[in-house]
Amino acid sequence: MINRDRILNLFLDLVKIDSPSLKEKDVADYLCSLMQDKGYDIIKDNAGKACGGNTGNIFVRIPATGDGESIAFSAHMDCVNPCCGVVPVVKDDVVYSSGDTVLGGDDKAGLAVMIEALKHLEEESIPHPEIYLMFSICEESGMHGAKNMDATLLPAKNVIVLDSGGAVGTIVIKAPAKAGIKIVFKGKSAHAGITPESGISAIQIAAEAVTHMNLLRIDKETTANLGSIEGGGSTNIVTEQVTLSAEARSTNEESLQSQLDHMKKCCVDAADKFGGACDFDYEISYPALHVDESSMLLAKVEQSCKNISLASSRVSTGGGSDSNILYGKGYGVLTLGIGMSKVHTVEEFIKIKSMTDCAELVAEIMKS
Ligand SMILES: [Zn+2]
Repeated sequence: MINRDRILNLFLDLVKIDSPSLKEKDVADYLCSLMQDKGYDIIKDNAGKACGGNTGNIFVRIPATGDGESIAFSAHMDCVNPCCGVVPVVKDDVVYSSGDTVLGGDDKAGLAVMIEALKHLEEESIPHPEIYLMFSICEESGMHGAKNMDATLLPAKNVIVLDSGGAVGTIVIKAPAKAGIKIVFKGKSAHAGITPESGISAIQIAAEAVTHMNLLRIDKETTANLGSIEGGGSTNIVTEQVTLSAEARSTNEESLQSQLDHMKKCCVDAADKFGGACDFDYEISYPALHVDESSMLLAKVEQSCKNISLASSRVSTGGGSDSNILYGKGYGVLTLGIGMSKVHTVEEFIKIKSMTDCAELVAEIMKS
């Protein structure tokens, strides 16, 4: 049996430990001591050094007690701000924060779920293949833990990532690629009162470019947004330079490219119109994730849902997570809904039943 009080207490302990991105060490230490008590191999990688954090990703290896292919489970240890000094409030079947911070169910519910599932298998001596757990860092700040992970410490082919909203039974089969974009518009400074005709306003170039850009919802698979605009100073100087930050996402890599081409063309055309220049740079922050319909992992998870009479649904998401990075590194990846709700807000909550149901599902997937 999944033990409701045990998973709840573990979850409450975890959310009370502060763990903003780059400062996950206290949670890592807590989890390591739990795992050490069980006698498992625990290894920390150097991802923390690469991104300036106070701990690395933690990998735990649980030896096989039965047949089957190795499988890994992953959840991240960091939370988005405000996440320090969380005071969890349990009301009826639901855990909330006190309203001053997030709850941190994203993703400490994922951590609690995999540990409870494991305890349940052990308690009832249910055979399982070799299992790996990955407790990652810095997911919220840009998946820096997954990006810098030592993949040799996670030798399983498939990873179940416990880090999506949606009811338990939700299976993410598509997630977008994301491009981070930086555009610098270059004009020419001049005294705005004496020789304005010899100046080129970078603000006017930027405005012209943005006016022609298709933004926000582009199509079913594609989105684009401007994040910030910076530049200019005194009104008596024609603005020489403006910098714009933006992003574009798509689950379809061709659509992403054509959106980037479109945005770039708007910028180049605007610069030409005013006789200025522009630099349009982008970086693909993470690749799109597509789970094949015929994926064995998908079949296994859907069958596990059936085995415990849980309705499953395949969904696509607009957000990125460690899953995209792991997928990009060649792992088979499925992200599961764990029931966390209103994440990244101080109204975040999770039902205790979502955690117990999810632990039951994860235990079912872990079984031989
Ligand atoms: Zn998360």
